[in-house]
Amino acid sequence: MSSRTPVIAGNWKMYKDHLEAIQLVQKLAYHLEAEDYEDQEVVVCPPFVSLRSVQTVIQSDDLPIGLGAQNCHPEDEGAFTGEVSVPMLSRLDVTYVIAGHSERRALFGESDAVVNEKVRAIQHHGLRPILCVGESLEEREAGRAVEVVVQQLRGSLDGIAIDDPEALVVAYEPVWAIGTGRTATPQDAQEMCAAVRAEVASLYDQATADGVRVQYGGSVKPGNVKSLMSQPDIDGALVGGASLSSEDFALIVRHRR
Ligand code: PEP
Repeated sequence: MSSRTPVIAGNWKMYKDHLEAIQLVQKLAYHLEAEDYEDQEVVVCPPFVSLRSVQTVIQSDDLPIGLGAQNCHPEDEGAFTGEVSVPMLSRLDVTYVIAGHSERRALFGESDAVVNEKVRAIQHHGLRPILCVGESLEEREAGRAVEVVVQQLRGSLDGIAIDDPEALVVAYEPVWAIGTGRTATPQDAQEMCAAVRAEVASLYDQATADGVRVQYGGSVKPGNVKSLMSQPDIDGALVGGASLSSEDFALIVRHRR
């Protein structure tokens, strides 16, 4: 059993307006009991416009649910129309920020260099990145999965010091498994999460690699979460679709029961 505290995070993507977001977090809290929060972190990542509303619910009901954002701009402020900075997120009690989600890489052209700037900014302000990496189906079929993921890790972490390994979460998310209903087998997911950890060891050192949390993401559901989470190098999940249902996300969080 590893000493790393797993993180189960829900990525709500561009779903739920702020009223629906309030309902979703309230219902989630209703389904969870104190023991469900023990020795694991539960985090929700609503769209930017719902962060303030969800923060208010978490605060007023004193919920042990962490708040995450789905993206950020690397600068603190400036003429960047439509963007949101890390200090702004920090003021909303956001503790985690997703960086380099495959949808942002594919649809918004985010390169490893851009992801690197975001990870730096997130760390600089004392928040925790959830750094997403993962190969496409084509890359996996060509036998290049590990190479691609290692390359993304190197680029995204280039020149970045890790003082507190707990403060870095890497989410291994094979692109072909995101929103498709196809999940990596627990063995394949374990193999890649172990490869991520080995690369962190080679970029930094073994103690850092042992402390970093490596999540699996890609069609995690109540029915497959247990077998994925029982793998030694998988320290939690990044959950998209299933996190939009309070019942399903609660079942995922409660997988140990
Ligand atoms: C995600 O968006 O990070 C994700 C893993 O989505 P899904 O669970 O829907 O595959």
